[in-house]
Amino acid sequence: MQAADTRLDQLAHSEASLPATKQVNELTEKLAELNTDVVNAATELSDLEREVRKAEDEVDQVRKRTTKDQQLLDSGSITSGKQLEEIQHEIASLLRRQGDLEDAQLEVMERAEESQNVVDRLKEAVAKAEAERAEVQAVQEAALAEIVTERTEVLARREDLVSGVPADLLALYTKLRESLGGVAAAPLRGSRCEGCHMQLAPTDLRIIAGAEPDEVARCEECRRILIRSGVN
Ligand SMILES: [Zn+2]
Repeated sequence: MQAADTRLDQLAHSEASLPATKQVNELTEKLAELNTDVVNAATELSDLEREVRKAEDEVDQVRKRTTKDQQLLDSGSITSGKQLEEIQHEIASLLRRQGDLEDAQLEVMERAEESQNVVDRLKEAVAKAEAERAEVQAVQEAALAEIVTERTEVLARREDLVSGVPADLLALYTKLRESLGGVAAAPLRGSRCEGCHMQLAPTDLRIIAGAEPDEVARCEECRRILIRSGVN
């Protein structure tokens, strides 16, 4: 029964410390960070796209006004020299303005393109991390299924064993398991207790050797139940 309980403890420990579980948790954390980055980058991109549209509109308006001035000039309807000069002056100034606006438009378009690249790279990273997590999750599930299968077997074995243990011995065993780190019963090998690895005194050994098979022998050092060879 001690062997069964030790195995159950080991299984619980394995379950709690599966490397795959740690990896899944790490990847989940990484994905949360990446998804936040995606949201932030996408917001920045949509702001830049709006700026690009605004820059396009501005260039368009200036271009339209230049065309209008040019048409007016070409129509020949303006005869006043001063007025003609004014319109020519305005066209020149509009063309300079258009050049400036086109430079600004180009600059914001480049920034939008860079931002799009950032969003694309982040989305790729998310897809990669998701695929990785799915793989590790499969490993985790397989390992957990193995643990569950073995636990079911061990529990059935323990169930069989516990029915043959007297109530007071079972109570002692349970109490010792709680206070002694899970190991309540240890084999007596030669003169040594395998629980605390101490040698028993010759007098104690003589008492144990003379005891009835159903009597419970205890280690004088660690108080564990001693499992005597040849005695069940
Ligand atoms: Zn001992």
